[in-house]
Amino acid sequence: MRAKTVNKTFFSKKIISWYEENKRDLPWRQTRDPYKIWISEIILQQTRVAQGLPYYQKFIEQFPDVFSLARAKEDKVLRLWQGLGYYSRARNLHACSKELASSYGGRFPDTYKELMTLPGIGSYTAAAIASIAFRVPVAVVDGNVYRVLARIFGIDLDVASTEGKVYFFTKANELIDQHQPDLFNQAMMEFGALHCTPKNPMCNSCIFMNTCFANQQNLQVSLPVKSKKLFVKKRYFTYIVIEYQGRLLMRKRKADDIWNGLYDFFLIENARLTNPEKTLSAFKEFKRHQTKVSGKIQKHVLSHQQLLTRFLWIKVSDVTSIKNLIKQHELAFYNKKQVMKLPKPILVSRFLQENGYLD
Ligand code: SF4
Repeated sequence: MRAKTVNKTFFSKKIISWYEENKRDLPWRQTRDPYKIWISEIILQQTRVAQGLPYYQKFIEQFPDVFSLARAKEDKVLRLWQGLGYYSRARNLHACSKELASSYGGRFPDTYKELMTLPGIGSYTAAAIASIAFRVPVAVVDGNVYRVLARIFGIDLDVASTEGKVYFFTKANELIDQHQPDLFNQAMMEFGALHCTPKNPMCNSCIFMNTCFANQQNLQVSLPVKSKKLFVKKRYFTYIVIEYQGRLLMRKRKADDIWNGLYDFFLIENARLTNPEKTLSAFKEFKRHQTKVSGKIQKHVLSHQQLLTRFLWIKVSDVTSIKNLIKQHELAFYNKKQVMKLPKPILVSRFLQENGYLD
């Protein structure tokens, strides 16, 4: 396939005027504050606008600027993030705000290159902040932009390959409007999100219908090319929820696995699906305590993992028999009010709600 030549000025004028007529009215589009643009861009990675919007509003309300975020406790930041997934994004936001507060006087650097040196800020986010907040002409390339460029220009390079990434980034930078890079970048992303959608793009009412390579060749389904298949690993969890006088035993998860910094229960992981009673029988500590097994297996899908989880709820009448277990697994008791405030994986939070522990 050959990349089609389309006049650069024609292209940017068309897409910007489409954007001005069709853009969604979103709060981060009414500001040039790099902090707010940054928060919105991080929230919207891997998240749809409808789902991300309430998180953005809550986040800005709680942490209106770099300093308030830098001062916050990590638990509070993660608790606000709860349900969005990809928790490393929240931890990086926090780390980055601390660096901005301590080394930059709370201000964002205004170049793409310097922005890239900050924790958690890669090419995409640096380009978004630089272009939208400071009008630096550097192109933002996300999934929407790959799709729009691949289809209009007939580019069949794999978007997951290094060669493809470099080519698309170069192409987008050739096209960017030097005077209105903010509008151009937002227009490209919005056009991909609303008009040139992955399925059923609206070619019959498209401003590029006569110039678009994919439309002329009927190749909308094959473009963009993305060859990399994600390997999804299955994991089998049995959570033991231990209750003593209305309090629950929980622990803070560590950096060596998913959900770093979030709180969950004593966890047993098996290589395959096992009978929960059999799992429990290996622990003499629980023999004389009252146990309730949650019937259904909860399926929870993460980007690279599928978790198949059973919950066992054990009410203990004294803690003597589980003292060693508490120490060994770094567990601690939390009352209902504390459990409510802790940042938790959505799987844990949902289970507690369904079982009437949390409102
Ligand atoms: S003609 Fe169709 S495939 Fe081409 S840019 Fe427009 S919507 Fe996308």
